[in-house]
Amino acid sequence: MSVGSGIKASVGRGGANIPTDVLFIQNLINQRLLTPLRWLVVDGRCGPLTIFAIEEIQRVQAGMKHPSGIVVPDSPTFRVLTAGGAESISPRAATMEPPANRPALVPLSSSIRYTVATPGPNTPEVHAVFSPATASRLDAAFAELNKLGIVPQVNSAFRTPEEQAFMQCGGSGSNPAAKVSWHEAGAAVDINGTTSPQFRTIKTVMKKHRFKWGGEFHSKKDPPHFDGRLFSGDLKDAVRKAQASWNSTNK
Ligand SMILES: [Zn+2]
Repeated sequence: MSVGSGIKASVGRGGANIPTDVLFIQNLINQRLLTPLRWLVVDGRCGPLTIFAIEEIQRVQAGMKHPSGIVVPDSPTFRVLTAGGAESISPRAATMEPPANRPALVPLSSSIRYTVATPGPNTPEVHAVFSPATASRLDAAFAELNKLGIVPQVNSAFRTPEEQAFMQCGGSGSNPAAKVSWHEAGAAVDINGTTSPQFRTIKTVMKKHRFKWGGEFHSKKDPPHFDGRLFSGDLKDAVRKAQASWNSTNK
């Protein structure tokens, strides 16, 4: 499927809304979700959330004062959505199934002791859920810390796109978050107290369990951050799966 011929007819408010066209646009929206929008369920049905997302992209990314909520083939909105080429648009993505019933995000084992940061003006509510692969390694790391008498405080775990956008636009203070993050895939955790004496132990134990420490990032140091991604994984794909799971269980 080439990008230029991605839709046969219009998608959005009052549009033709051919299901395969709607699927294609929903995938494009999810892959370019730069504004604080909820991840769309890719189902081929053009409902209010899809129309709202089209309007937001028209307003924020296409600079339209009066968004129409409709994507017409080869229109400026279509070009905004497909800017950057076909790299992120594959036939596989266009036919992606909704997530399986099995939850993609899980809490830590009930035997693990940890606390979470209290929500406030600069701290979104902490969703202490993780991808299963990250959760099992975090269980092992935190169990080891617990044995040493350390009860870690989690400042941030899974984030919705809205929360990530908030963190990026000044919500996290002087150290703005990335546009897209492994937090959104449930594969990262921020731990409190980087200047505390016990943080050295936390760092050692987390690294032993194959978490990459943000204090050693080359581009931008992020000391509270531990990245639990498995490095063969694709970030966008992992984020899409985690967010779809979150949306389907947290309305
Ligand atoms: Zn982080």
